[in-house]
Amino acid sequence: MTEKKSPIISFKNFSFQYRAQKKPTLKEINLDIYPGERVLIAGPSGCGKSTITSLLMKENRPQSGVITLGGEVLSDFTTEGLMKKITRITHDSYIFKGTVRENLAMGCETASEPEMREALGQVDLLGFVEENGGLDMEILEKGANLSGGQKQRLALARALLHDSPVYIFDEATSNVDVESENKIMEIVQDLAREKSVILISHRLANVTAADKILYMEQGKIAESGTHEQLMAQNKAYAALFNKQQELEHFREDAV
Ligand code: ADP
Repeated sequence: MTEKKSPIISFKNFSFQYRAQKKPTLKEINLDIYPGERVLIAGPSGCGKSTITSLLMKENRPQSGVITLGGEVLSDFTTEGLMKKITRITHDSYIFKGTVRENLAMGCETASEPEMREALGQVDLLGFVEENGGLDMEILEKGANLSGGQKQRLALARALLHDSPVYIFDEATSNVDVESENKIMEIVQDLAREKSVILISHRLANVTAADKILYMEQGKIAESGTHEQLMAQNKAYAALFNKQQELEHFREDAV
């Protein structure tokens, strides 16, 4: 295929500084994300990964540069318009007191019960919900009667019902059990067949299949490419990946 698609998200010469900070947090970011692409933003803590997503969600306003979403300038989007385009799943998804049905309806008010069950099935939560009263199951404040992994999977079911062209997973698998982490990553792979997926993860092992990896350092994109390309470059990304692998094997050996 020679035809080049238009990017769904584009950052052009983008810089950003928090008022409370003395130095810019993001410096001259140029970034294009295409429909159907899985992009991993990696890098040490504090390098600016979450700030990129907060700017996409218009939680912060840029001082210079332009972000476009589907070809339109981001600042022209209303909050409602933005929500239709982007779904964000963070490490601490908002689960509220109410039934499973009510929690899922927040993702899509018009979702039918079969659609809700299908989404629960996709995240391997249907059996558990059925055993506990089905869609009428009562969820406690902040999902207190669910495990961390179940909470994230319920949030993911809701996100699947929401059906937007862009999904952001911001450290969505921190603090969940291995089974839930694997399930979430499986769904990310499936989603990326049709959607653009931005992943932010401090753990690199389960995201090496990303189409594009952006390795950030101190607010800049220091390296970009596929996992194989960045490993071959043998710079900071490769060093972080190797260090994490060593630590994980060390832990496995210690068990
Ligand atoms: P990462 O996601 O890579 O860990 P962040 O984007 O959260 O990094 O943070 C980048 C930098 O911006 C850090 O130095 C952090 O302290 C700072 N920062 C993040 N949020 C705020 C804020 N609301 N106000 C001021 N500084 C912030």
